[in-house]
Amino acid sequence: MKAAVYEGIEKLVVKDVPAPICTEENIVIRVRACAICGTDLRTFHHGKVNVKPPQIIGHEISGEVAETGSKVTGFKKGDRLAVAAIVSCGSCYYCRKGLPNLCAKFKALGYELPGGFAEYLAVPKEMLYDGSVNKLPDNVTFDEAAIVEPFACAINGQELSRVSRGDVVVIVGAGPIGLMHISIARAKNAGKVILAEMSEQRLEMAKTFCPDICINPGKENMVKRVMDETEQRGADVVIVAAPSGKAQEEALKYIAFRGRINFFGGLPKDKSFVSLDANIIHYREAFINGTSGSLPRHNMETLKLFSFGEPAGVNAKKFITHRYPLDRILEGIKTVESGIGLKVVINP
Ligand SMILES: [Zn+2]
Ligand SMILES: [Zn+2]
Repeated sequence: MKAAVYEGIEKLVVKDVPAPICTEENIVIRVRACAICGTDLRTFHHGKVNVKPPQIIGHEISGEVAETGSKVTGFKKGDRLAVAAIVSCGSCYYCRKGLPNLCAKFKALGYELPGGFAEYLAVPKEMLYDGSVNKLPDNVTFDEAAIVEPFACAINGQELSRVSRGDVVVIVGAGPIGLMHISIARAKNAGKVILAEMSEQRLEMAKTFCPDICINPGKENMVKRVMDETEQRGADVVIVAAPSGKAQEEALKYIAFRGRINFFGGLPKDKSFVSLDANIIHYREAFINGTSGSLPRHNMETLKLFSFGEPAGVNAKKFITHRYPLDRILEGIKTVESGIGLKVVINP
């Protein structure tokens, strides 16, 4: 089969490799769509400790069942599926607590295990019955299903920051993840959604997702504007969906009492220290939390939202701006980097 194999830094090669084998207990899918994630770019340019070359990368995956093992129940050839990324052990402390994204033996498709930039993918048996693999509602396409994984991570972030009806939610960063956060905040009936982004081009693109207010912190005083928009109370929730330590630090200056700040995006590993005013956290009773991955139920919830569509405040189609065949994956990566689009989907 054809696959995009990461062979080392700056080396992603589309080549013929042996197709995965279907065992008694797993399934093999024909991959129909796999979206490019920011993490794939990081692996491509800088490498990643948990991606040992040669490896097929890609973890935002949808496809249809090509083969099922003799002991597998509940799946049949032709089933259309969205596949989450995390493979958890099911038996460690965190798995037993219902937090498989924090599994002690955490593995993920496209990292430790072969991923979705390939014609076929073996779905490990651990994923089949814990909600990580879900059948698509009829009105959800393969391309939309490929962005279930990042959307589910964003739902996890908003759940951890307890976004509720009427909240003022500030989202920093208008990349695809930032825009997913707008849709989710809408679905949660947030009172006001404020988007902050330094790039005018991205801010312009974001307008179709209807944030109530757009701020370019490069052009106006972000803290003052958020305070003015909230009767000087500050934001109930701030989601920093940009790899910016400065944005993380600044969030404390406009957080409301009992406000929640979510460090959604990671920082570059050589710039991961920030300085936070502990007294603000203390006096305002503020919360700061992080988000890493998602739970199986967030994937299930995402598919429901995609299926409900606009009435639920979510139009999955709008996130997908570019599609490429597997052979042109490097072009797809360039498109992501150029910032001209949102999600770029590879159709192997
Ligand atoms: Zn991703
Ligand atoms: Zn575990």
